[in-house]
Amino acid sequence: MNCPNCKFKLTAVPYVHVTKIAGYTVTDKSGLSLACPKCVGKSINSEVLAQYERRAVCHLLTAPPTIDGAVLRYARKAIGLTRAELAAFLGVSERQIDACETDSMVTRQMRLALLGLVMCVEGGGDLQDLGRAKGKELVIGDPGKDPSTAA
Ligand SMILES: [Zn+2]
Repeated sequence: MNCPNCKFKLTAVPYVHVTKIAGYTVTDKSGLSLACPKCVGKSINSEVLAQYERRAVCHLLTAPPTIDGAVLRYARKAIGLTRAELAAFLGVSERQIDACETDSMVTRQMRLALLGLVMCVEGGGDLQDLGRAKGKELVIGDPGKDPSTAA
């Protein structure tokens, strides 16, 4: 994969990224995220930043004993869903999403549902594909398409 900024080949460089989410601080020292050796220290591009955000969200949805609605809201935004879209994905009402996002304690079911969606996006899945397959055969990826330029 190449850097969307300068097209330089992305590598795992030692880079500590701190994401602040709803009162939590997530310090990512894993070095597993791809980063551009040329652009690090200047400004990381929005796609790399989005990867760090999604990784931070994954950990926030699993690690703390409880989370509140603000984390849920952050997680939803990190995968670019509106309340209505998330409600449709989870098969609940928009009012329930609203209630969860203003709640002081989010249910374990809701955490796991969000985690599934975040991990799907992180793994390159397209949420818009949910339930779209016809029959029992799935085709993943398009060989004519450069994955580094995929939206
Ligand atoms: Zn770059």
